[in-house]
Amino acid sequence: MDVGVIGLGRMGRGMAASLVRAGHRVRVWNRSPGAAEGLAGAIPVAEAAEAFAGDAAITMLADDAALRAVIVEGGLLDKADRPGLHLSMSTISVALAGELAAIHSRAGVPYIAAPVFGRPDVAEAGALNIVAAGDPEGMARARPLFEAMGSRTWPFGDAPQRANAVKLAGNFMLVSAIEAMGEAAAFAEGHGVSGADLLDLLTNTLFASPVYKNYGALIAAQRYEPPGFNLKLGAKDIGLALAAAESAGVPMPFAEVLRDNLVAAMGQGDADKDLAALAEVARRAGGPRSPTG
Ligand code: NAP
Repeated sequence: MDVGVIGLGRMGRGMAASLVRAGHRVRVWNRSPGAAEGLAGAIPVAEAAEAFAGDAAITMLADDAALRAVIVEGGLLDKADRPGLHLSMSTISVALAGELAAIHSRAGVPYIAAPVFGRPDVAEAGALNIVAAGDPEGMARARPLFEAMGSRTWPFGDAPQRANAVKLAGNFMLVSAIEAMGEAAAFAEGHGVSGADLLDLLTNTLFASPVYKNYGALIAAQRYEPPGFNLKLGAKDIGLALAAAESAGVPMPFAEVLRDNLVAAMGQGDADKDLAALAEVARRAGGPRSPTG
């Protein structure tokens, strides 16, 4: 297929590489120049509008503001040469997803929300879990692209914003797991037990799942740079979950705690570190102790 990728950050770059490997013709655009360097086989274009064309366009931008700036304020839906399909794969608000679905419908471009689970190495390997919702005919046409970027696509019906609600629920659980590991490690260290040893035990027994194992290893080693997933993007997602929870009249008291601790982490200078650095909030609150017990 002839596909455009808008946004070559940590995730978008690996997704574009997976599409090239699968034999698609891939045009790429990024706000800051130079992001396409070393992306063999992809065709860099000068304007976002040149990537928002062809059989399908994929957006993998940071947040609501970025998507709004590029697609809505950039007037890309008013162009004559619009894409046959827009796969919107960033983690954005449920509200913006609903708004974009309506705008795309008026412009005659099927809008598929397809946020993903998986860090940049998983994107690079073409093994993401893709949560997809939108027009069924558009979803069928998107299949070869989903197969190139992901190991499995999880359909959630034809209302795009539902995929975004699923993604935010997943990230709420992910950040909760990091908070739980951070507090447990600090607690263990307060009793002279190595936090790394504790996490080694628990992430290989009771909590032997990808999130606990991957983030647990980073917390155990206190390895937060270079970031795979920026802490400030995790904070964005908890904020989006809380806004969506309020709009549905569903309280999420634990998400409020997570938001406060993410604000503390950012205030302590960790915004651009990996999300796993959230664990240090509990460690700092417990006072200086050796992480190795
Ligand atoms: P990233 O490395 O920070 O990249 C962000 C991208 O958005 C860059 O291409 C950046 O362009 C662009 N951007 C930001 N503001 C913009 C604006 N105002 N106008 C145009 N472009 C703008 O982020 P990422 O880790 O790839 O994450 C991308 C999305 O995937 C986010 O929604 C994130 O929540 C989600 N996600 C991330 C992970 C992960 O593990 N990293 C996993 C699942 C989902 P510049 O290069 O010009 O700054």
